[in-house]
Amino acid sequence: MFEYAPAPESRDIVDIRPSYGLFINGEWVEPQGEERHKTVNPATEEVLAEVAWAGEADVDRAVQAAAKAFPVWSAMPGAERAKYLFRIARIIQERARELAVLETLDNGKPIRESRDVDLPLVAAHFFYYAGWADKLSYAGFGPDPRPLGVAGQVIPWNFPLLMLAWKIAPALACGNTVVLKPAETTPLTALAFADICRQADLPPGVVNIVTGAGETGAALVNHPGVDKVAFTGSTEVGRLIARSLAGTRKKLTLELGGKAANIVFEDAPLDQAVEGIVNGIFFNQGHVCCAGSRLLVQESIAADLLEALKRRLGTLRLGDPLDKNTDIGAINSAEQLAKIRELSEAGEAEGAERWSPACPIPDRGYWFPPTVFTGVAQSHRIAREEIFGPVLSVLTFRTPAEAVEKANNTPYGLSAGVWTEKGSLMLWAASRLRAGVVWSNTFNRFDPTSPFGGYKESGYGREGGRHGLEAYLAV
Ligand code: NDP
Repeated sequence: MFEYAPAPESRDIVDIRPSYGLFINGEWVEPQGEERHKTVNPATEEVLAEVAWAGEADVDRAVQAAAKAFPVWSAMPGAERAKYLFRIARIIQERARELAVLETLDNGKPIRESRDVDLPLVAAHFFYYAGWADKLSYAGFGPDPRPLGVAGQVIPWNFPLLMLAWKIAPALACGNTVVLKPAETTPLTALAFADICRQADLPPGVVNIVTGAGETGAALVNHPGVDKVAFTGSTEVGRLIARSLAGTRKKLTLELGGKAANIVFEDAPLDQAVEGIVNGIFFNQGHVCCAGSRLLVQESIAADLLEALKRRLGTLRLGDPLDKNTDIGAINSAEQLAKIRELSEAGEAEGAERWSPACPIPDRGYWFPPTVFTGVAQSHRIAREEIFGPVLSVLTFRTPAEAVEKANNTPYGLSAGVWTEKGSLMLWAASRLRAGVVWSNTFNRFDPTSPFGGYKESGYGREGGRHGLEAYLAV
């Protein structure tokens, strides 16, 4: 293995304030309560900043600001709204390096990923939906589709700025105004986005950012002034939200958990499949709702594939997320690390065999080595529950029908992968897999033009593409 000299990205480019207020009606305002929380760098446990904790009164203020901005924003010609969105997209591109470093500091993901995946996709989402803003009448939702009003949006910590873009870009393009709550552990890029809204001269109240914890999210989704709720996060909280919104007039989209099968047939190109497996489960430390966390490999090639996979995992570099050579960064929080540990221990206790490459772990921060479980049975918790960490469960199959049956044997239905040289087998499998996204001979590829969303306990509604407009229009 090569030895690499450290190549750290400089953090001087980001200017983190010691303390942040709430972004309401185009202004930074102080919350009514005294409570604040600290956001830390999960790679070092260093406190990065103090962030306001929005209570019900603050959420109310934000929703009212969004409601006041709605008549002006929604009446604006689509071509004018597009200009703001294009401007935001260009500012994001201009500030991409700064935002990538900030994301890596607050989230723990490798800079290579925030720089090369998250930020280009964030800008692409704003560009893409800017393009739709003046073409809504041609989107297939009737001649004069109308926006819904105020969108209350709650996002998780795994792709903080990208999830913000997935939520805010289509909402604004359609003429809605927004109150967004970022996750408690990763608020900083959403707060930087608030500054970008000011830089773009976005009219006050069109975007409002309220920070806080689960209670702030609950106050937002339950606020009577909210017309549309968009949530990405755990199935458990998604269920709570669906329950509390049932019977109200609010429109709801839920993007929840997953336990995707990545199926490798015996004719698959092995080296490519190994790269796809690594990208499927170790990208973003496995903190990916559509992660390929269940590897289903045809028995005839299982031994060869596992050997190649282990060899490849031995070359992954875990450590400083700001180092451009790093493949695996830090786990986002102590709570998430505890959850990954608990499920991994359950895997061992239930009889699966655990393996990790030799991998030095830094002294401070939250870390978990890339881990592979073999001898996994369908009934094991590690095959059924979302671990949301760098942990792969390997199962085998003999026939394509068995592969599809095992892949579909899950309460989730967000994504799947199929590796084969045969187009007919790929299409046969893809048409039988109950998953919102099926990748073939690749994994974890995202594009703003492509709809994304789940079946079953992975949620409902689609984000991205033309389909993503529907969630923000009265159709
Ligand atoms: P949550 O679902 O709790 O968090 C997602 C977002 O919802 C956060 O902004 C959170 O705020 C907010 N929230 C929490 N409770 C409520 C509520 N009652 N009403 C409205 N909003 C609420 O996920 P966690 O961060 O707790 O992660 C737990 C597990 O969920 C993970 O281990 C993983 O398995 C899964 N997960 C799945 C994701 C996906 O994309 N499918 C994304 C994130 C997690 P706050 O962060 O401040 O608590």
